[in-house]
Amino acid sequence: EEQYKNAEQKARELEKAKEELERTAVEIELASRYKSEFLANMSHELRTPLNSLLILAQILADNKERNLTPRQVEFAATIHKSGHNLLHLINDILDLSKIESGKMDILISKVSISEIVSFTEQNIQPLAAQKGLHFTISMGPGLPENIETDQQRVQQIITNLLSNACKFTTRGSVSLDISLVPSEFGARIAFAVRDTGIGIPSAKQQIVFDAFQQADGTTSRKYGGTGLGLSISRELANLLGGFIQVESEEGRGSTFTLFLPLEQERIAHPEVLALQE
Ligand code: ADP
Repeated sequence: EEQYKNAEQKARELEKAKEELERTAVEIELASRYKSEFLANMSHELRTPLNSLLILAQILADNKERNLTPRQVEFAATIHKSGHNLLHLINDILDLSKIESGKMDILISKVSISEIVSFTEQNIQPLAAQKGLHFTISMGPGLPENIETDQQRVQQIITNLLSNACKFTTRGSVSLDISLVPSEFGARIAFAVRDTGIGIPSAKQQIVFDAFQQADGTTSRKYGGTGLGLSISRELANLLGGFIQVESEEGRGSTFTLFLPLEQERIAHPEVLALQE
């Protein structure tokens, strides 16, 4: 009798604990959604005034009317640069919160590889030239003309990897090598971004993909940046059915490779599927 009562009591306690856990899970889920929605709304509201601030600071920095002192022009240029960094941060936070709340739009279409190449060339060439880096793009044999993916997102990932490559390289070269890679799950396309820059110690090679993480705490002051670019890139690659790999040697350089499927598998990526239909 006693034992039976005890067991019943235990069962009731367990049931209660289970209910409590379920309630907490729902609360956490809700809080996380509110956080993402709040960030998305805030980011949007912050961008509008910041954009006008940027335009006006640029006008002042241009000093077309030649009525500002060199010091005033310098201040205006600093306001513009800081504003620009802030906008970059806000855009990154907005992207990340969209991804976290499952609201990142993915638009799949047939995307021409040569279009990706010319976009990249136009965007990165000036950046590399500014730093005196040799920049090349090469295309391997057997590449298809088109792949099924989201053009804007692929360009965002590649631009991000290449701007990092330029940022963390002071001498030598930066390159984008596009090739076809066979795998047991069908061929993939690989966009390999190589640099001859500072490299990343092996212990840090995975954490750089986490939000707000930089390989070296002191580099943020030296190189600037938010530490969000790689985590956004990794999430975007996932949404496109792909992934990013890193190989790096300290002091010698890094290679970040984006692997993408040639076609979107309908079952493997429900988010993509939903948007296609
Ligand atoms: P950010 O560049 O804004 O700091 P990222 O998420 O793009 O943020 O990169 C995170 C960190 O990874 C960088 O701060 C840097 O320490 C390291 N990193 C990324 N790309 C490279 C690279 N090509 N060479 C060396 N370090 C890199």
